[in-house]
Amino acid sequence: MKALTLEAYNQLCYGDAPDPELKAGDVLIRVRACGICGSDIHGMDGSSGRRIPPIIMGHEAAGSIAQVAAEVTDWTVGDRVTFDSTIYCGQCEYCKAGNVNLCDDRRVMGVSPGDYRQHGAFAELVAVPARIIHKLPENLSYEEASLVEPVSIALHAVNRMPLREGQTAVVVGAGMIGLLVIQALKTRGIDRIIAVDIDPEKLRSAEKMGASEGILSDDRAIHCIRQLTGDGADLAMEVVGITATLNLAIASLRKGGSLGLVGNLAPETHFPLQSVVTRELTLYGSCSSNGEYPEALKRIADGTINVKPLISNIAPLAEGAQWFQRLRSGKENLLKVILQP
Ligand SMILES: [Zn+2]
Ligand SMILES: [Zn+2]
Repeated sequence: MKALTLEAYNQLCYGDAPDPELKAGDVLIRVRACGICGSDIHGMDGSSGRRIPPIIMGHEAAGSIAQVAAEVTDWTVGDRVTFDSTIYCGQCEYCKAGNVNLCDDRRVMGVSPGDYRQHGAFAELVAVPARIIHKLPENLSYEEASLVEPVSIALHAVNRMPLREGQTAVVVGAGMIGLLVIQALKTRGIDRIIAVDIDPEKLRSAEKMGASEGILSDDRAIHCIRQLTGDGADLAMEVVGITATLNLAIASLRKGGSLGLVGNLAPETHFPLQSVVTRELTLYGSCSSNGEYPEALKRIADGTINVKPLISNIAPLAEGAQWFQRLRSGKENLLKVILQP
């Protein structure tokens, strides 16, 4: 098969690769669309350490079933499907308790952090266990379906929060996931959403996606948020993951408010301990997703979460290397780039 392989850091090569091996319980998927994730960019250049070459990356994909292995009963060749980015074991205590995103034996598609290597979907074919695949709604294109993973992350982040209608939320970071978190909050009846970002263009996107206000992340940001909310917001969603944005999110909350932590660019940050303790804030970490795929697919298909404006470009997989470089340079304000094998 043809694949886009990370052969060394910053060296993506399009060419022949061995077909994936099918184990019992697997399906082979003919990939029709696979999105480039921010984590793939940080993997490609070695900065995250989670894509140790050689690896075929790609965990945001959709396609059709090309082959089913032994022990697969509910699926047939030709079914249009997508798959969870996480392969969970289904047997550990966390899986049994229904928290598959916390699985002890979790493997992420297209990732090689050192203790495993799981080839992903920047390829014509990818093998995945049948237990992690989901059928596509009939009217949903492969390209839109490939955004189901970031949508499920946004829905999971919102599902972690103690939401009540009529609350005010601040979303810090209006990139891909931030824009989806804004839409996810709206599906839960949160209509007053203040988006914060350093980039005015991203704030305009946030307003198009349903944010009621966009605020530039500068020295005056907290002052502006206070003017809009009085006491501070009920909820803040941090979707960047560095010291400055974490502190801004915490400062934007009222006493007793709740903070959702989704971004994790920096492994460690400064943390305003006293502000959290003395104001009794509650923090909710959110990792990946846990059961949100069906809702995400339904909402993309019926348009209650609109992913079309998030797709910047659709290009052949053979041109993948140059799109990775363009995304990495960050000069063009690209959101999602989808590659087609
Ligand atoms: Zn991703
Ligand atoms: Zn498990």
